[in-house]
Amino acid sequence: MALITKAPRGTQDVLPAEVHKWRYIEKTALETAELYGFTEIRIPVFEHTELFNRSVGDTTDVVQKEMYTFNDKGGRSLTLRPEGTAGVARAVLEHNLNKETLPLRVSYVVSCYRYEKPQAGRLREFHQFGLELFGAESPMADAEVIMVANAILQTLGIKDVALEINSIGCPKCREEYHKALREYFTAHLDEMCETCQGRLETNPMRILDCKSTICSQIAEGAPRILDYLCEDCQAHFETVKDLLENNGIDFTVNPTIVRGLDYYTRTVFEFVATGIGAQGTVCGGGRYDGLIEEIGGSPTCGLGFGMGLERLLLVMEQEGCEFPEPVRPKVYIASIGEEAAKTAAFLTESLRREGFPAQCDLMNRSVKAQMKYADKIGAQYTVVIGDDEVDSGSAKIKNMETGEQCEVNIIEIAEYLYDVDYESTLESLQNAAGSIGDIDLSKLL
Ligand code: ATP
Ligand code: MG
Repeated sequence: MALITKAPRGTQDVLPAEVHKWRYIEKTALETAELYGFTEIRIPVFEHTELFNRSVGDTTDVVQKEMYTFNDKGGRSLTLRPEGTAGVARAVLEHNLNKETLPLRVSYVVSCYRYEKPQAGRLREFHQFGLELFGAESPMADAEVIMVANAILQTLGIKDVALEINSIGCPKCREEYHKALREYFTAHLDEMCETCQGRLETNPMRILDCKSTICSQIAEGAPRILDYLCEDCQAHFETVKDLLENNGIDFTVNPTIVRGLDYYTRTVFEFVATGIGAQGTVCGGGRYDGLIEEIGGSPTCGLGFGMGLERLLLVMEQEGCEFPEPVRPKVYIASIGEEAAKTAAFLTESLRREGFPAQCDLMNRSVKAQMKYADKIGAQYTVVIGDDEVDSGSAKIKNMETGEQCEVNIIEIAEYLYDVDYESTLESLQNAAGSIGDIDLSKLL
């Protein structure tokens, strides 16, 4: 029985008191990406297993060790998405979006599933904001994608984060590089973990991304891909760096970044925060020119990134970044007696129809208990309706912060709020609409 009252290992609930932070991060990311032309796409939680084997790559840790794969009742092998890019690429192909206006820019917020050892910043169900840009081969696209990620982190107020970039070349440069890696790692074969021993022939670059202590120690001395880039890849990388410099984006070249998924080519990058411990990579991404072809489409280049939202939140809390206040009820309408309760319910509903968050009693409580509740939920104004108020049609409205009271016509509470408290009313209206800043003010007046 204990099992059903405990969430599965590696998952976490976002409780009502915290949810405004999540909405703020997601909204900031989506809206910042909109500035760059990215439109949201929504994709399924599960896909055919084969999609991830093919795109993420069957010698990666994600595919070999971390996927939640199951057969459905029809005997199909399905997998809960471990990341967003593969599903987005599949959707782009399925709906021929790569045949429409290019470049195609899409963004998304997705839950992801990986069977990993849970610890701070590493969960089995986690969330990513991500985006993908298809059809542009130019290094300007690489710089643009990195700049969106940078803009999101800046807008959220995150300071302690550093951009690291690398180029992992194209299949052409990798021929030579793989040879060099095989030669290097063959000398250390006995010391390496079993998985990496298997990778030596199939995909030696994967060894560079192994998390085992011994393999990562050995990897430190391995040849570097940057020394093996072909001319085109070299030129592409130089331009990306120039563009970042031109736009005032600080970065360092980290030749050890190879990224955990097979589909990457050329530019790869990570934004790393130093303050949240070992799981400091808040964003990872890069170019994947071979991916669409790999899953059956005509050659279409692409690039993108994924940002771990749990890690972003950790960094923001650690740095003391500001979050907007959660929505508070504007008005609580208390009532005494059955008749007054009906009137209170009517008035409450009319306030909501005007866009004001409002509540009234649903539990047949005493006025004292109702006021205690109003206080707990942080209502800014309260009104008490009794028989007298129902008869006279007027009541006192009390500002709970200042204690000020004012007699109002009960059907004109909304008008009163507009007049007396313009600024904060506007703010609560905007919050109630689930958005800050995108309401046309003129419509309210
Ligand atoms: P790591 O090296 O930390 O395992 P990764 O290279 O596997 O990360 P990506 O596949 O690039 O991660 O995913 C993009 C982002 O998603 C990461 O930078 C991180 O912020 C987040 N992320 C990845 N795995 C997890 C996880 N298990 N729990 C929470 N966030 C995660
Ligand atoms: Mg990982």
